[in-house]
Amino acid sequence: MAGGHRLAGMGASRGAALGRARVRQPLLPETGRERIAASRVEDEITRLHVAVDSARQEMALLRQRLHGAMPAEVGEFLDLHTLLLDDPELLAALDELIRSQRYSASCALGVQRQRLAALFEQMEDDYLRSRIDDLDHVIGRLLQLLNPQQRPSAGVAGEILICESIAPAELVQLPASGVVGVVTTGGSLLSHSAILARSLHLPLVVGAHQALQKLHSGQLLIIDGDSGQITPDPDAEQLRQYRLRVRELARERRELQRLRSKPSRTLDGCDIRLLLNAESSEDFTQVHRLGAAGLGLYRTEFLFLQGSSLPDEQTQFEHYRNAVLAMAGRPATFRSMDLGADKADRAGLAPTHEENPALGVRGIRLSLANPQVFDTQLRAILRASGYGPVRLLLPMVSGREEVLAVRRRLRLIQRQLRDSGHAVSEQVALGAMIEVPSAALAVHGFIDLIDFLSVGTNDLVQYLLAADRNNPNVSAYYNPLHPALLQLLAQLLDTGAQAQIPVSVCGEIAGDARLTPLLLALGLREFSLHPNTLLEVRQSIRQCDLDKLTAARPALLRARDRRGIERWLRAHTPASH
Ligand code: PEP
Ligand code: MG
Repeated sequence: MAGGHRLAGMGASRGAALGRARVRQPLLPETGRERIAASRVEDEITRLHVAVDSARQEMALLRQRLHGAMPAEVGEFLDLHTLLLDDPELLAALDELIRSQRYSASCALGVQRQRLAALFEQMEDDYLRSRIDDLDHVIGRLLQLLNPQQRPSAGVAGEILICESIAPAELVQLPASGVVGVVTTGGSLLSHSAILARSLHLPLVVGAHQALQKLHSGQLLIIDGDSGQITPDPDAEQLRQYRLRVRELARERRELQRLRSKPSRTLDGCDIRLLLNAESSEDFTQVHRLGAAGLGLYRTEFLFLQGSSLPDEQTQFEHYRNAVLAMAGRPATFRSMDLGADKADRAGLAPTHEENPALGVRGIRLSLANPQVFDTQLRAILRASGYGPVRLLLPMVSGREEVLAVRRRLRLIQRQLRDSGHAVSEQVALGAMIEVPSAALAVHGFIDLIDFLSVGTNDLVQYLLAADRNNPNVSAYYNPLHPALLQLLAQLLDTGAQAQIPVSVCGEIAGDARLTPLLLALGLREFSLHPNTLLEVRQSIRQCDLDKLTAARPALLRARDRRGIERWLRAHTPASH
């Protein structure tokens, strides 16, 4: 039997899957204005409220279940969706539509969605405008809950979900229901869902523009999350190829597991330091399981995002001390709270009404503007330093002044803590995150004040390229393979080497094994990455020849555009990778 016509998308998460397609056409809320009987109005409102409550509970459960097992950004999406469900205006408007117009709950959602879409369309801010996607994800979930018979669940065991786009909150639940892969017509390689799919090892193909038109539910498919190929109705030969591919992937995975106890050493014998990014205590054991060198980035803001009040000094201290004890002598790097912008805390510390929050009071700016809260955190971190090696990392530093201000506070607090009998280490290393271009360019102006640098490329890319990291409309611009980013990284690494200050990268690119040769060529010797990506990066390191990559650095820095960088990467990626 001949195979069907292949479709192409972009491979966003590695792996191959064979399964039946479940095609989910884009969300089209009911807009036929059918009226319900007056006697059903109150029941319909109750039905809607029950659906909203269930959706809210789902979000809360999901957040609990995933805490620590997901990239920080996914948590933010969950929070945003919960906020939408909590929005009293949205809910009041729906009640009103059901009551005054006698619309069904589904129809009211459709009408309200249209009204809001018109408002979103008029927004000047791209980021806000793109939040319509979140609204759609929330409305979609409500429609599913209201009409379980019409809207089958996202998928069942052995299915490949074909849809327009997928929210991280939905994607994360798919593996548990046995869904073996996902194809989206939209999406990008760096979207939150793509990051998440990679960490869940769920094959994902994005940008398969024709998938919704050409595929139908029940059709047999093979998808390849590396090449982005979709093969409908595979023939005998294609099935044989698939089996080979699956065997190869299983072998690769076994090989990867073997690397847990192996050094992260290049072919020519240079040891590379791999540290972990962590968001909760669940990540601590991974440091030992994977043989990491310690915690390179502990996102402490997670403590501040949970409750409705700020964590006090003792709560924070105990939390930080647990992290230090869990490291058993390896360093624990605490990033001071990085609140603000899209990380809005429930305690109301971060401003919520800034025109341009990513350029507003966030990170170290917010800490310095709230000295009491900041001092509480510094006291807790310093107290934890009595129990093992601690490093303090400052987010969103833009220049010397902020580092000076923190050093002054640190000295004062250290003295106070010792005077009141606390054990505080003499050697708490102070580091700056390099995420703001001004800090990257003027690093020589404050390098004398710090002990280490950590490059936060997630933010550095957005500020350097003027492309919001959360805005899908500019996702094509938000790409680390830009000569400007490479030049800046090279400069930072050179400055660090001259000053004998370690420089690590802790943004997502550090965990992308495809970019490992590039980062090594630029001079990076310390990576801080998500636990799920460590073994792949170690494998890539072990296949690299540092001498050869260093010799190829000038060619990399001469690349004029993304294609040039990709060409360099193809030429310098070890053959077996
Ligand atoms: C970064 O910006 O690269 C980073 C690691 O910080 P976050 O993703 O938490 O903003
Ligand atoms: Mg950042």
